[in-house]
Amino acid sequence: MTGTLGMTHPRSVELVPPTLRTIPEAVTANIAIARARTRSRIMAVVKADGYGHGAGAIAHTAVAAGAEWLGTTDVAEAISLRATGLTVPILTWLNPSGVDAEAAAIARIDIAVGSLDELEALLKQNASSPVRIHLHMDTGMAREGCPAHEWDALIPRARQGQRRGKVRVVGLMGHLPLADHADPEANAPAVWRMRQARRAVIEAGFDEPLTHLAATSATLTDPATHFGMVRFGAGLVGIDPSETAELHAASRLTAPVAHSAIVKAGTPVGYSGTYVTDTSTNLSVLPLGYADGIPREISPAAFVEIHGRRHLVVGRVSMDQIVIDTGADHVPPGTTATVFGPKDGVTPTIHDWARWAGTIPHTIVTGIGSRVKRTIT
Ligand SMILES: *Cc1c(COP(=O)(O)O)cnc(C)c1O
Repeated sequence: MTGTLGMTHPRSVELVPPTLRTIPEAVTANIAIARARTRSRIMAVVKADGYGHGAGAIAHTAVAAGAEWLGTTDVAEAISLRATGLTVPILTWLNPSGVDAEAAAIARIDIAVGSLDELEALLKQNASSPVRIHLHMDTGMAREGCPAHEWDALIPRARQGQRRGKVRVVGLMGHLPLADHADPEANAPAVWRMRQARRAVIEAGFDEPLTHLAATSATLTDPATHFGMVRFGAGLVGIDPSETAELHAASRLTAPVAHSAIVKAGTPVGYSGTYVTDTSTNLSVLPLGYADGIPREISPAAFVEIHGRRHLVVGRVSMDQIVIDTGADHVPPGTTATVFGPKDGVTPTIHDWARWAGTIPHTIVTGIGSRVKRTIT
């Protein structure tokens, strides 16, 4: 940094490393809000390591708060949850590296089957007990899920597989293409397709399957989509894409001030000097950068909170650090800055960071890097 008037050179300040603190009470409160809006069972979706908050912590809290099911994207994640003593049913639905039928059967992990190929891959294996499956139908998203023209092949083949004791169809699932706002009218075609699929499965001779379609947004806004169960993921950690509920943020990201300096007016800050101080001011460095999930694309409005005051992030976000301008406040190294946390009128939220970066809050929480320490309050 050029133009430095004075610096502090602490020799032995004990720094608390950057930390993401998970707040279980928030998850409990969010489940209660979902519970007030649906009579159906609630699956707590804890994929992507519980949306960056720690899958185990979020899953245990959600189950204690009344979630009857858990959902993840692959069997390995599900098995590691089982290993922590969770006994509720767990569904996995993407399984990018295929499914080991015996591993799924032994750990009682349910598998979503979204195509004839996926079904055949299970039927080829010889597990010691039937694998519990959910037929995953494309209800209008064209992502995962069996397209409607393949249902007539998939359903009878699943029926054969069940007769042969290879699989047991316990569920039926779809997914809504409109996950980011409240729009019951736009959900209607998917609801209609889900009902159609349910009828086809029952007509094929199966027992009534546990049917599930809604994710967070529809859980909070559209009871017609709830069927037997809702899949609540983002909402667990305080993200409400429908913007109709006051959910509670389930994490706080803090970092210690690592270095502070007073600089003169006209001092360029950071790579390329994109920010130049207009007066003499105090700058502080936080040891968190884009490698830790601080988006590089933030607007100049981004700030952090220290002792109840907002301080702007200035200059480019570096790989490992950001600089904040604390104005007249000299902030000694070791002081804790809050990057985001529950809404309190001063502390930035994940929604603020998403807005500053032109993204959604999901990417903020799932992007927090692995060198950020995780703890639970
Ligand atoms: C991620 C996911 C969910 C949860 O969605 P949220 O909007 O985060 O609640 C539900 N179902 C499927 C298939 C998913 O992939």
